[in-house]
Amino acid sequence: MIPAEERLYAGEAGLMEALQQQAKDERLWALGLPEEIGGGGLGFMEYTHVNEAVGRSEHAMVALGTHSAQDATMLHLYANQEQKERWLRPLVDGEIYPSVGMTEPEVAGSDPTGVRTSAVLDEDEWVIDGHKWFITGANRAAFTTVFAVTEPDGPPHARASMIIVPTDSQGFDIVREIPVMGDVPEFAHCEIRLTGVRVPQENLLGRRGEAFRIAQDRLGPGRIYHCMRWLGQAGRAFDLMCERALAREAFGEPLAKKQTVQNWIADSAAEIRAARLLTLDAAEKLDSGDDARVEIALIKFFGAKVLHDVIDRAIQVHGALGVSGDTPLERMYRHARFARIYDGPDEVHRVSAARRILRGYSG
Ligand SMILES: Cc1cc2nc3c(=O)[nH]c(=O)nc-3n(C[C@H](O)[C@H](O)[C@H](O)COP(=O)(O)OP(=O)(O)OC[C@H]3O[C@@H](n4cnc5c(N)ncnc54)[C@H](O)[C@@H]3O)c2cc1C
Repeated sequence: MIPAEERLYAGEAGLMEALQQQAKDERLWALGLPEEIGGGGLGFMEYTHVNEAVGRSEHAMVALGTHSAQDATMLHLYANQEQKERWLRPLVDGEIYPSVGMTEPEVAGSDPTGVRTSAVLDEDEWVIDGHKWFITGANRAAFTTVFAVTEPDGPPHARASMIIVPTDSQGFDIVREIPVMGDVPEFAHCEIRLTGVRVPQENLLGRRGEAFRIAQDRLGPGRIYHCMRWLGQAGRAFDLMCERALAREAFGEPLAKKQTVQNWIADSAAEIRAARLLTLDAAEKLDSGDDARVEIALIKFFGAKVLHDVIDRAIQVHGALGVSGDTPLERMYRHARFARIYDGPDEVHRVSAARRILRGYSG
């Protein structure tokens, strides 16, 4: 992937499709999904490790068919037979793209109990009205799985359901592609309006009021994969930092001889190893059937910080070159900033981990 990156960023036509075909030919496609739905059939722990290698290049997820793994798993677990035929197989084959619509501009995304988008059953159709944003990839997705309130009088965590909404539905409008730092050309972060969108009753995923549970099932393993991919990015930045420290001389000696630079290298090596072990610990706990809520919350904010700090130090060692477009570091740095916000901001994961830990101390 790495030699193809510049051409991919420039949007070279047909290149991604060629790389995807190569991945399929070499049996590297959708490795983490079960074979019966067209995936490579790797087990959860094996696939967890694969994600660190995938993370080295930001484009590798799409080239290897891992970008839709979370959504494909969600459909595999919750969709009915008809939904699977329509959406799941083409998704795994890379013929269509998914998107998920939870976050809304008017209410805090950190607290999805406040979601306002509503879905009301009118005979055998859901009628959906709402406003979403930061819906990654909606610009090229075949459907958005929309998080909508269907049980307005229910308890806070049982008010919403997940409903599959084809993006070509009447009333599904992309208001704009939101300009953000660190854009990848393939996937825009979209603002969406749903105005009286009608979809068949059967487009409900799982049961009514189950949106939180489905989102949790989707996000738990997803956060582990994210953290492993961040380690891939951090590892790439670390390699660049070490190579530059050895190659560049200042004040009569290589940067690698300066104690400050040595500290950055040692701290980064320790933090990367710690983040890897924490992530694998969370993965093993999840694999054993525990929901690993504390462990996943810990890696989400710790992993995001390690990612950021290692890239930041690598940029510093490169001096002006580090903030130029002549290395991948400035691009990696912009993307790394997202990690502290998506799938729940750092602060929410800290609060959640601390609350659960403290429960063990209160009588
Ligand atoms: C690159 C990117 C891609 C995304 N893709 C998608 C997508 O595909 N689909 C989708 O639905 N959403 C997506 N999101 C949205 C993302 O899930 C939300 O941004 C996130 O949940 C935070 O919600 P918010 O932006 O509304 O921030 P808010 O909820 O308004 O929070 C703002 C800040 O308040 C602070 N805060 C919040 N709660 C607490 C607390 N309990 N304690 C202390 N401080 C707190 C935090 O510092 C937080 O950053 C994406 C976001 C980004 C950046």
